[in-house]
Amino acid sequence: MHHRHLCAHAHRTFDTPTSGRPFRLPGDRAQWGRPRAFSLDALSLEVLPDLEARSIEATAELTLRRVDPEARWAHLDAIAFDLIAVERLDGDAARGAAHQYDGEVLRVDLSDVPDGGEGRVRVRYRATPRRGLYFTAPDAARPDRPQQIWSQCQDQDGRNWFPCQDHPGQRMSTEMSVVVPKGWFALSNGVLVSREETDGGERFHWKQEEPHPAYLVTLAAGELDASHEEAGGVPVDYYVPKGQSAHVQRSLGNTPEMIRLFSEKLSTPYPWAKYAQIVVADFIFGGMENTSATTLFERALLDERAALDVDMDALVAHELAHQWFGDLVTCRDWSHAWLNEGFATYLEHVWKEHDEGRDAYLYNLEQDLELYLAEHRGRYGRPVVEKVWATPIDVFDRHLYQKGGLVLHVIREHLGDAAFWRGLAHYLERHRGGSVETRDLLRALENATGRSLEELFHQWIERPGHPGLEVAVEHGEGVVRVTVTQTQADKDDEGAFHLRLPIEIVTEVGAEAHALELTRRVETFAIPASEPPRMVIVDPRMTAPGTLELKAPTDMLITQLKEAESARPRWCAVRALAKRNEPRARAALAEALTGDSFWGVRAEAAKALGEHRTADAFEALQKGEADADPKVRRSVASAYGAVRQAGAADRLLAWIDRGDESYLVESALRRALGETRDPRAFDRLTRSLKEDTASWGQVVQSGAADGLVKLKDPRVVEPLLATLAEVTTRATVRRSILAALASVPGFIGDRPTLRVVREAAEQELSSFDPNVRIAVARLMVALRDPAGFAVLDRLVDRDLDGRARRAGREAKRDLAAALETPPEVAQLSDVVEKLRQEVVELRARVETSLAAGPAAEPGAGTAGSDG
Ligand SMILES: [Zn+2]
Repeated sequence: MHHRHLCAHAHRTFDTPTSGRPFRLPGDRAQWGRPRAFSLDALSLEVLPDLEARSIEATAELTLRRVDPEARWAHLDAIAFDLIAVERLDGDAARGAAHQYDGEVLRVDLSDVPDGGEGRVRVRYRATPRRGLYFTAPDAARPDRPQQIWSQCQDQDGRNWFPCQDHPGQRMSTEMSVVVPKGWFALSNGVLVSREETDGGERFHWKQEEPHPAYLVTLAAGELDASHEEAGGVPVDYYVPKGQSAHVQRSLGNTPEMIRLFSEKLSTPYPWAKYAQIVVADFIFGGMENTSATTLFERALLDERAALDVDMDALVAHELAHQWFGDLVTCRDWSHAWLNEGFATYLEHVWKEHDEGRDAYLYNLEQDLELYLAEHRGRYGRPVVEKVWATPIDVFDRHLYQKGGLVLHVIREHLGDAAFWRGLAHYLERHRGGSVETRDLLRALENATGRSLEELFHQWIERPGHPGLEVAVEHGEGVVRVTVTQTQADKDDEGAFHLRLPIEIVTEVGAEAHALELTRRVETFAIPASEPPRMVIVDPRMTAPGTLELKAPTDMLITQLKEAESARPRWCAVRALAKRNEPRARAALAEALTGDSFWGVRAEAAKALGEHRTADAFEALQKGEADADPKVRRSVASAYGAVRQAGAADRLLAWIDRGDESYLVESALRRALGETRDPRAFDRLTRSLKEDTASWGQVVQSGAADGLVKLKDPRVVEPLLATLAEVTTRATVRRSILAALASVPGFIGDRPTLRVVREAAEQELSSFDPNVRIAVARLMVALRDPAGFAVLDRLVDRDLDGRARRAGREAKRDLAAALETPPEVAQLSDVVEKLRQEVVELRARVETSLAAGPAAEPGAGTAGSDG
């Protein structure tokens, strides 16, 4: 599953600088495994959708195998089904089955199934799923929205439209037979067994022979353009909305090469019958790795301009990587979901390394590191494996994805390339078709390599946090003195990482590599060096991801920026020089901005110059406007917003007027213009907010919204709310507006305006896009209005999306803190929160059982009527 914001402009909603808040919220509980008296081995599903009613009529045939010799009931997850019949099958004969149904769990009496034997059950039902299966259609907000059906079962929503054992540790083979309107195509897992015309429609029958978990079952259908390739014998299929096929190669075209690369690196051929990718409307994630049939959101299709500085390789590689990590080998429960998401995230970078080289690989990791650090700083720190939560998606955060991926890089650096890939091949071989927890990966790597990884896993996975390194370098009397402080550790060395930190001392004579053994908070190493060092490069391969502060003489940093061979030491030097308020530092940064060979270093140099806020820095920045790489131009545009020099707004306005071929640069220009707080900005940005609605992902319009708020001018509220009130405003822009308003806490001071903003935001709780609802939650904190609690209560109590509920719960806690609630009240509100969680759970149960109608008595049953 991919739910990272894909464009670099995305708001870092949670990056408010308040640290030390716990991951666990009142009412969260430890999650333990659940009993499984019967194992669901096979599911065959026939689905007849009703597009108008947004409902289905379905028949499920299930094969259940006895595990517990004593058990009577087989338990199936099934939310709010309208049961027509529950039957036992014997060959072709069917008879009513004794069962119980409470709207959530269907229990079927299988007491006559012998030990180790199988029972077949048929369930006929109707369902109008509120989650799991979605129907899209045109409406006033989006007259061009295509009519489609698509599913999203992760993490436990399959149960809303088919009966199953909805747990990642449980696997079954599946079949999907679905009737859709003529002219449609329907995609599901595995092999297309048949398609045949029916009256008024067409039936597609798919079969997935190798067992997989319920959360990977898919159904996606609509009027689609198809195209096909292959990779080493694997069919590679693309399905996109009608008229969009011109974008396929540009956006998804590296798929075959990725399949070849991952198969080779992992010494494990692509494991499924085909690899299909389908693009659907209004998808609620970036992508979803359903076995052999990935679903992608609409922004996955890039027009020519978007492709200038965005590529979909990371998304495509991520979902493809899941076909091995997640689909072939699955986390046993969601607490270990980093074994899915960490790998998928890491393999994005492995593709990057193959495609663009080592510098790009490390720079990608560096950007992931920043995302993780922002979450750690602004939201919470937690161990990568965490068992206490309310709903599985709570753990699908940057600790799971980005830190999980970084840990795999750490393991690779620790083992070396050959051993790392050998270890992964062994892991996949050993656990193929099975479920795993973190220990299984640890043991597989140890067995394949003969190395011990206990301590590494303990430090990076089982414990929260990361190394915060300060490295000071001095030279004198024939020694280089390197003092390393681990700022995250306490004075008794508690919390210190045990690391071998690589450094390279470069003198006139040559380069010498050393590894510093770190175990304590502060350690000093004296390394003999007859020549004074020209530079000391710290951790060039990022073996210890965390924060790194270089305290070396400015000359050494400048040399490092100019001469280090690989790019990482150069951008590390740039970051250190950003804090040196010296003309020679700026001169070196200016030179890097126009001269460095790696775009990432040039972009960092622009950012550093912006932070210097001097006339010569501003002058140097202007040379970056012409950079051929739009990612560098974007950084220059942003730096104009930060540099605080008269003239910056002129440059931005002129640039906006002449336009930039990149959407993301256009977006950055508008945001930066707002940051200058120039008097001309209000009119220009208001116009842009109205007119620039046509860019990929609406990024230009979002940039204008951002820029307006950066003006900190109460006048901006009116055009922003007018844009929200416009029915055709897209969800991405709504989210941007809400996040922008939240990014400047306290700037809306007067009560009446506060109320208008709050009420407008509350309207947005009805948005289909959970990211919009999450943005409402953060805005309620920023407004610091006690009336925001009612809005948050509505979100927490009613929202069906776990991400939104979690955001609401965090926001309630943060709003209480922002209003400086006395401790005893805070404690009481913890108790209330806990109760509320219980009420929410109870209400969900009551609602589903009401929807399901009265439970049938065992033995009597609704069964039999159709015999
Ligand atoms: Zn994923």
